[in-house]
Amino acid sequence: MNRRDFLRYGVSCLMGILLGEGGNLLEASPCRQPMIYKRFFQFTEYERRQATEYLVIHHTGFPGADKDSTAAGIHKFHQGTNKWAGIGYHYLIRKDGTIEQGRQPEMVGAHSYEHNKTSIGICLAGNFNLGKPTEEQMASVKELCWWLCQEYGLDPLKKGVIVGHRDLNDTECPGKNLYKKLGEIRRFCFDRTNP
Ligand SMILES: [Zn+2]
Repeated sequence: MNRRDFLRYGVSCLMGILLGEGGNLLEASPCRQPMIYKRFFQFTEYERRQATEYLVIHHTGFPGADKDSTAAGIHKFHQGTNKWAGIGYHYLIRKDGTIEQGRQPEMVGAHSYEHNKTSIGICLAGNFNLGKPTEEQMASVKELCWWLCQEYGLDPLKKGVIVGHRDLNDTECPGKNLYKKLGEIRRFCFDRTNP
């Protein structure tokens, strides 16, 4: 599939979602949204993102421990301690695979310095220099990335579309054990669109 066909597919996919709001057609749509738990946090500022060109994968990277986190806990930390508008990531994926919404998807995030205005931030709970993402987390991040690629007309195999935080800034994030799985995520997104 070339880029133009890919974009066309993305548009027809969006139409499928719109049609789906009226009834059963959503079930037939090839691009169903994964289950996302909305948390409705309060933010101190709101800036709308003008472009979405890539997806940035993070880990929470808690020092010395590969542990679970909640979006609520991160929101409290980013707002209370960091003095940011609120949670910096758009999505958090917990160890059991639950996808929680952090920032509203259309807001400018706070997750990758100098890249927030053109990207979406997805964080998996854990320290993946120490541990490995769970099977449930991998399944969820693949579904989420695939859906976001459809939503924003992104080609998952194009260089720079699904990246690790370390590709953009001076950091170890998302940890070596998640970073080496980014190719698997890209391939899943591509294969699902091109069966
Ligand atoms: Zn990061």
